Amino acid sequence: MAEVVLKNVSKDFGSVKVIRGVDLSIADGEFAVFVGPSGCGKSTLLRLVAGLEDISGGDLYIGGDRANAKSPKERGIAMVFQSYALYPHMTVYENMAFGLSLSGGGKAEIDAAVRKAADILELTPLLERLPKQLSGGQRQRVAIGRAIVRNPRVFLFDEPLSNLDAALRVQMRIEIAKLHKEIGATMVYVTHDQVEAMTLADKIVVLNAGNVEQVGAPLELYHHPRNMFVAGFIGSPK
Ligand code: ADP
Ligand code: MG
Repeated sequence: MAEVVLKNVSKDFGSVKVIRGVDLSIADGEFAVFVGPSGCGKSTLLRLVAGLEDISGGDLYIGGDRANAKSPKERGIAMVFQSYALYPHMTVYENMAFGLSLSGGGKAEIDAAVRKAADILELTPLLERLPKQLSGGQRQRVAIGRAIVRNPRVFLFDEPLSNLDAALRVQMRIEIAKLHKEIGATMVYVTHDQVEAMTLADKIVVLNAGNVEQVGAPLELYHHPRNMFVAGFIGSPK
């Protein structure tokens, strides 16, 4: 079943058309990656799915329900950003538990969810630390942990690794792939890094100036790019 469906979705900021009639279908459990040059609309498209921006035209479906007018909370999504945005005065445990306690979960239920996420992300020994006592990679794992505890049907990632150094980026990429395998949730991941896209994606969506240039499996795009833009983007990792 298709988990996230966009039908002729557009977004204008004033008179500027940023997303231009995008049709897209992401299957349940699929790892979809949006790539394209800076300013092409990757973050905007993700924010439309998240409900952080209103759609100007078209229709969005999440889990089979029309989601155009749903609040971010009602969509069953969790978003992981490039900046970790952890609460500095809260421990790792409290940072992960916070969103759940807001939505009214019971104490035992929250505890179980936090400990399970910590286990998956190898954060168990760090639960009592403050963010300032963590490395960049550990902080980003906590940010991902906060998303996991909410048990969303769809994870949205906006360049989650771009603040990390190269070695850590590779390590985190492997961990995200492992996470996807382990929990099997639908993931939509934005990056401008071709290597990340090629290694993580079931399906790559190449965006250019608010349009979808091509959608396909990594090797399909690599071997059969539809045009020079896709060839240049997928064929020349930086
Ligand atoms: P990407 O993530 O691919 O780099 P964005 O989705 O952030 O691109 O931006 C796409 C275009 O939309 C850019 O030209 C950007 O300046 C514009 N844009 C994004 N957000 C806003 C906003 N809130 N108001 C006006 N223009 C915006
Ligand atoms: Mg962006």
